[in-house]
Amino acid sequence: MNTQNQSKTCTQCGETKPASLFKRRLTKRQTCALLKRSSISSGLVVDSVRCTTCWEKAKSKKPLTPKQIRNKISSGDMHSVIGEMMLKRIKEELPHKRSRAMKERWAKVKAEPILQLKDSLSKQVAQYARRHHSSRYLTPETKELNKWNYEQARKIKADIFIRIARGEVFDPDLKIATLIKVNPNIREGIKGSAERILSEIRKKGGGHGSN
Ligand SMILES: [Zn+2]
Repeated sequence: MNTQNQSKTCTQCGETKPASLFKRRLTKRQTCALLKRSSISSGLVVDSVRCTTCWEKAKSKKPLTPKQIRNKISSGDMHSVIGEMMLKRIKEELPHKRSRAMKERWAKVKAEPILQLKDSLSKQVAQYARRHHSSRYLTPETKELNKWNYEQARKIKADIFIRIARGEVFDPDLKIATLIKVNPNIREGIKGSAERILSEIRKKGGGHGSN
């Protein structure tokens, strides 16, 4: 039987290709395992169910570790010159790899307070929004104040977000309340309505600790 001219269908990609494209040379280690022998002079060639393209694709993309390289050198699966070159490159790369990892870690640490602040600002604005939307039973002045505060809070948050993006640094515990401008008209109005409410409470004899 002439296998040279035969074709095979790959079980992975389903393509039919010449049988020669299914030949795979095992490493010495794999050959020893297959033949249950402790040593072998060269790797065995086997017929695979997958074509070489698929098999190459399936091979790990991860770079070899120094230990794997040393094992390959000692088992004869890798030429010692090539292995030593790879080991040398890994050694040279190491400081770069370390500084890269440190930079990444630092970037993460730096980003944390920013995320914290953004989250906190969003929560604060949500609180102002809740207060504004639940103003139904309040005096018109308080309603007006809640609306004002909510709108201010939204603007402050948007402004801080823009400034963060530009690289400005803020206290992660920043309180929007400290930045809200007081509308003087509203403040007077609130004072007036507060006094009115208090006098009504007094009239009804309610409130705390009345005698
Ligand atoms: Zn294939």
